[in-house]
This record gives sequence, structure tokens and C-alpha cells, in this order.
Amino acid sequence: MDKILLMLQLQAQLNDATNGEQWTEGLTKNGKVINWKRCIYMECAEMVDSFSWKHWKSIDKEPDWANHQIEVVDVWHFIMSLAIENYSQNFKGGVEDLSLTISQLKSFSALDVQSKRFAFQDEVIAKVENIIRLSIDQEKLQLESLISEFFDLVVMSGLDLETLYRLYIGKNILNQFRQDHGYKDGSYVKVWNGEEDNVVMKRIWEENGDIKPESLYKELTKAYSSINKS
Ligand code: MG
Ligand code: MG
Repeated sequence: MDKILLMLQLQAQLNDATNGEQWTEGLTKNGKVINWKRCIYMECAEMVDSFSWKHWKSIDKEPDWANHQIEVVDVWHFIMSLAIENYSQNFKGGVEDLSLTISQLKSFSALDVQSKRFAFQDEVIAKVENIIRLSIDQEKLQLESLISEFFDLVVMSGLDLETLYRLYIGKNILNQFRQDHGYKDGSYVKVWNGEEDNVVMKRIWEENGDIKPESLYKELTKAYSSINKS
């Protein structure tokens, strides 16, 4: 099974459902401009916030690696979206072509090695800042460099292809769930009895090793219906 291709397909489906099928042209079905690069650097800032980077506040706080990994997956949603849009707009092909290019990147082969170690905080932040720089660049998009830098970050964050894939499926389903439950109009409740929905999703996923996307969705529905939404 080609995990990269599967993730690209799921991402394209999520974007079709959320924004309408013309999203690769850069506009949602409501005519709102889509700026994937901005999504990437804003989400990168959330990543930096998982670390104690402030020199004036909680200076000895441990990095929140669990949250950081969720943010890595959030960024991955947006990098894949940007890549699909770039392939479409430049007539480079569809998700199959893109997944082939990605799987030939040198940095991709490092994802196969099971990784459990975290890099030093400062190195991780420096890597994140490279990604910010590449996504904010006004020049022609260096897509392959951006993806390569991202894969380096995946490894530095204690993840590999398998764990990235599993977390991605979980977050993709959660994003779908949010869209189906009022995320766009603001009626969705993100904190479930004191826990963020991300954390609930991660737990369901960790407790059920081989959970299928549909079952995860059902478990989320069950948990959401039982919370206090006022
Ligand atoms: Mg966010
Ligand atoms: Mg985020």
C-alpha cells in the first residue's frame, strides 16, 4: 500500500468536501481566497509554541512533544494541499504523479527507519523556521525543498512514515467530523469535557491499534454526543 498516495487522495477528498472541487484554482465554493502557504506558516507558529521558546516566561518548561506531533500533521495537511494545487495549476499531473515524485525524494527514504528519538528543541525550531521561510518566499515555490525539509522535521519529531500516516488518518477524520458538526459557522465545540478534541482522537486511536477510519468517526460521534456543549 502506498501511504503517500493514500494520504494525498484523502487530502484531495477533504478539500473537495470542504471547499468544493474547484479548490485547486485557489478559491473556495464561496469565493474565498485559499492561501495554503499562509496556512503552512501559521501552523508552523503553533508548532514553535509547543516549545518553551520564550526567554521571559516558563523558561524551564518541557517541550510538549505530543502537541508538536499533532501540529506536524496539521502542517502536512497544508503542504499536501499546496503540492496538489501546484501540480494542478502547472499541469504537472494528479496525485499519482505527485506521490511518485515524493517517494523519489532523498529525504523520503529516511522516513522508513522507525524513529522514536526527538531532536534538540533548538534544532527542531530551526527546521520549522526553514519551512516558514520556504512557505513565505515570494519567488517561485520550491516545492521539493519544502517537502524535503518537512520530512526531515518528521524524523526529528520522533515520527516515521507509519506514525505520520496513522496520525494523519486520525486528524483527517477529525477534520471531516468538525466540518460535519458546525466548524465553519463556529458552532462546533472543540473542548470536550476539559480535553481538546485532538487529544480525544489521539487516545481513541492509540487504544484501538487497527481502527478503521469509519469506526474512528463513529467513536468520535459517540464521544461528542455525550459532552456538555453549553
Ligand atoms: Mg491551527
Ligand atoms: Mg494546529
